[in-house]
Amino acid sequence: MTATDPGLHGSHTAHGTCHHDCPDSCGWQVTVTDGVAVQLRGNPAHPYSAGELCPKVNRFLDRVYSPDRITTPLRRVGAKGEGRFEPIGWDEALAEIAARFGEIVATDGPGAILPFISAGNQSALAMLFPERFWNRLGAIELTGALCGAVAGAGTASTLGSGRALDPTELRHSKLILLWGTNTRLTNRHLWPTIEAARADGAQVVVIDPVRTITADSADWFVQPLPGTDVALALAMMHVLVRDRLVDTEWVQAHTIGFDELAAHVAEWTPERAAATCGVPVADIERLANLYGTIRPVAIRTLIGAEHHEHGAMFFRAISCLPALVGAWRDRGGGYARSVGVWSEALVDGLRLMRPALRPAPRRELPMVRLAEVLDPAFTPPVRALFVIGGNPLVVVPNAEGVRRGLERADLFTVVHEQFLTDTARYADLVLPATTQIESLDVVPAWGHLWLGWNEPAIAPVGEAVSNSELHRRLARAMGFTEPELHADDEAILREAMPDVDLDELRRTGWVRAPYPEDGRPYPDGGFPTPSGKVELLSARLAAQGHPALPTHLAARESLGGDPELAARFPFALLTPKQHTRFLNSSYSQLPKHGPLEDGPYVEMVAADADRLGVIDGQCVVVHNDRAELELPVRISTRLRPGVVAIPWGWWGRHHPDGRTANALTNDTITDWGGGVSYSDTLVAIRPR
Ligand code: SF4
Repeated sequence: MTATDPGLHGSHTAHGTCHHDCPDSCGWQVTVTDGVAVQLRGNPAHPYSAGELCPKVNRFLDRVYSPDRITTPLRRVGAKGEGRFEPIGWDEALAEIAARFGEIVATDGPGAILPFISAGNQSALAMLFPERFWNRLGAIELTGALCGAVAGAGTASTLGSGRALDPTELRHSKLILLWGTNTRLTNRHLWPTIEAARADGAQVVVIDPVRTITADSADWFVQPLPGTDVALALAMMHVLVRDRLVDTEWVQAHTIGFDELAAHVAEWTPERAAATCGVPVADIERLANLYGTIRPVAIRTLIGAEHHEHGAMFFRAISCLPALVGAWRDRGGGYARSVGVWSEALVDGLRLMRPALRPAPRRELPMVRLAEVLDPAFTPPVRALFVIGGNPLVVVPNAEGVRRGLERADLFTVVHEQFLTDTARYADLVLPATTQIESLDVVPAWGHLWLGWNEPAIAPVGEAVSNSELHRRLARAMGFTEPELHADDEAILREAMPDVDLDELRRTGWVRAPYPEDGRPYPDGGFPTPSGKVELLSARLAAQGHPALPTHLAARESLGGDPELAARFPFALLTPKQHTRFLNSSYSQLPKHGPLEDGPYVEMVAADADRLGVIDGQCVVVHNDRAELELPVRISTRLRPGVVAIPWGWWGRHHPDGRTANALTNDTITDWGGGVSYSDTLVAIRPR
């Protein structure tokens, strides 16, 4: 049996890797009988996930064989958004796409065609090979990202790259700060490592604006107001300098700008920070003292904290802390975030994407401003939208703006999907997409160092095709003859992974990205900055118009920002991930997922409910200048007064008025990194 020829008769087991937008990239095994996948379970031999999947993927076969799967190309026959389609053949669908693209290229140029490729499938072929076709076409290139780009950019501004600690090295830590990350929910396979460190005496502190399930499991929980973490970090630096807890030898050898930073943080007394972030002075003193006196000490963060107007500044600030205490000296010391940068040594992204195929530089537009980009008044206009691996109407901020764009009669929209999502309902054509067990790929993880093989276990369901096959078909339909647009999956992977023995990878199921054997990425400095040192003071940032030193800045749309806005909309809105059975907007529509989760609702503390004159379960209207939505109140103790939360991931059909949490969220672009300020959103609330 070959990789692309899953057996139709008899029984076999195929090894695969979870493709979801999740740091854990678990290994799985699929048992197939007579061409039908009958069991999918965690691979007990996987070096990171060790046989455990999660509640959403434990039922993955429900998704594969759902009666709601799209199994043929569909053409819209109703109004946009109505969701009425008729099946058509692939040839017909491709001919229509080629004809419409041809017309648009002739009249407006390829810069009027927008591919929106999101993280629905994070495998290498699925995410990167499509870029060959879009490069050849010369279509719009979306810059930035909804998640991840800001964390990397903020870290790189201080350390020189996004490269940081392998999170499994937390096993050696004695103090672990989980800062803005809900590990037990969104990075569950790291938790046993943290528990093992605790068993050896490590303390775990969670810093988060929401009392999450991870906070409930910590030794200590610190709850700053949203968007004030930099103030907290500056006050920690103040105490470290004041109390002579700085590792002066390491700082002198491996940093630049310490004197300027020390003078800068002299103003950030714990008293001043307490007034900004709402954390008591004694707690700030204690946090800084723990940080400065326990070794090895590590900060663990992921994505959540980047969703602020000054999100990159947060990652810059916390990248400075390990340098001050010389944490990088120790095994288990430093700062752990995404490890995707280490995996880049295994998969050459440029070989997958082939930017040399571009006939000319592509027009660049920001991903997070999709609502503006699709607006009828946007010039030059976008005439076609092609969505791959995404449900932007649910996951993009300012979602009602996106909806107005999708409603445009003159916007030709194609969606490649497994289900008729909120976005797909607005498409002119919907094309059937395979699931992960139907296609060959490799999955570079960003939560651990193991790149996983993914063998197709079954033939594609119906007429579904993978992202790579879709783009080969698009290239044929457009008459593009460059051989690299038509290469088969295995040949593409062999070429993009020159240092990996693909046959061995297929046999073993995973390969580990190169990482220092003693676990310490920077024991003796060697940071890839221009100076070779941790840049506490950054001339590069100053040249780009940013503060040269880590600086707390209040977002315009925050309780400490524009007073006029805060008076009109007195609540800070968070839209956290909260469900065990959802993955972003995936799964919420499936019978054994969404209906088993409570919601949607707006969560607030009792004092705020009293202030509003509402009670638990009562329906209220949550609104701002972008939209309004009706939701029942959920009273909890997880938030601070003045902060409310709507869990995200629900589709419009689950909300009473068809609008989702992202109808309200802020699409301001972050300070740098091209991310989004979801968590700098202000709302008002009134009883319905
Ligand atoms: S979603 Fe995450 S935790 Fe769940 S199986 Fe996939 S990689 Fe593992």
